[in-house]
Amino acid sequence: MRSLTIRLGFWSGLLGVVFGLTGCADAPEAEGTSVYQEAPASPYDSQAVEASRQALLAKRDRTGEDELRLGDLSRQVGDWSRAQKAYYDARTANVRAADGEHRALLGLARVALAQRDPSAAMNYSERAEQATQNSGGREEARVLRALAHLERGQTNEARRLRAQVSRSDIPELSQLDSRLGSSGSVVSTPSPRNGPRPAAATTPKPPRSDFPAGAPAILARERWGARALNQKRDPVLLGAPRRVTVHHTAESNLPGPSFEANAERMRAYQHTHQDERKWADIGYHFVIDRQARIWEGRDLRYQGAHAGNKQANEGNIGIALMGDFEKSQPSEAQKRSLFTLTEWLLTRYRIAPSAVYGHDEVAKKHDPKEGTTCPGKHLERYIIEMKRLLKKPPAAQAKPKSKAS
Ligand SMILES: [Zn+2]
Repeated sequence: MRSLTIRLGFWSGLLGVVFGLTGCADAPEAEGTSVYQEAPASPYDSQAVEASRQALLAKRDRTGEDELRLGDLSRQVGDWSRAQKAYYDARTANVRAADGEHRALLGLARVALAQRDPSAAMNYSERAEQATQNSGGREEARVLRALAHLERGQTNEARRLRAQVSRSDIPELSQLDSRLGSSGSVVSTPSPRNGPRPAAATTPKPPRSDFPAGAPAILARERWGARALNQKRDPVLLGAPRRVTVHHTAESNLPGPSFEANAERMRAYQHTHQDERKWADIGYHFVIDRQARIWEGRDLRYQGAHAGNKQANEGNIGIALMGDFEKSQPSEAQKRSLFTLTEWLLTRYRIAPSAVYGHDEVAKKHDPKEGTTCPGKHLERYIIEMKRLLKKPPAAQAKPKSKAS
């Protein structure tokens, strides 16, 4: 309860800054079909994950091992409450699974972290550490406990625990390291370069992508502690995407460069869109911060709320860049990420470069009276440049260039 109160206080403070500034995601949620009536389009194998999950849900007499798996799959699709229940059930089921108690407690700690409940995360990760004799398992629990400490602002505690971890394959490790500010595990602000050659910049690559091979490094919802999509708002399936729309967030008050500051801003967008605007989820499918990190917004299986009316959102992938590009320039790092992400999406869904739009352009296509300054004149200029580069055959194109304007 206490943490909830603190959180609300935090949000209302932050909302003063954020609400009203994210004005470009302005589409009503349409009434629609319920979620799993048809096979959803499947970016990132989420269809397969959901199918396995449904199969387990339908199964009678689930074993402890089944419950653990159900918990993990539910976390992957962001169904935190179902994940929690599965892990509880795994503990009460006669868990014969190897290290079953330990794994269930790790799962519960992860759910607690995703729900931004550091007390529960601390509790579960401590117990997970005690519940195993396996040193690798103990290290995994320590990483989660370190994140819970960070959530409470206890950096030294987090550092101490990090020092006791030698495994390098724990999923949350890169997040922990970037939040601790150690070895560049997240894209950092590129250093100044000579000449207009953004493509040649040596931006450090994030250590792992949460998405399949070939995808740019996208930080999955779980990484920023997204809440689940609100099923009660009747989210509509996106189906096969056929266009991409670029936005700016129209904010002049941007977060600092740290991973956590930007993760926090993602949570603020989601909060505004879900709680104030009563949408199913954050309006955009992707958000790109000033440091070039690409954050997953709404799951691509669902239609977004960003382009205007219902028709404008159909088959439309929404990408927002943090900033106000009516007033200032997007960073070179942001432009690179926008290019990489767009290129990947176009290839993946066989979309023509001519189907990449700025918000204003797509809004007017559906209603000539609709108009917006989004994505800002400076970003608009880059979108035109980008579309030209995307048209070239792959061999000749390879990397974005920015026009010296
Ligand atoms: Zn917009």
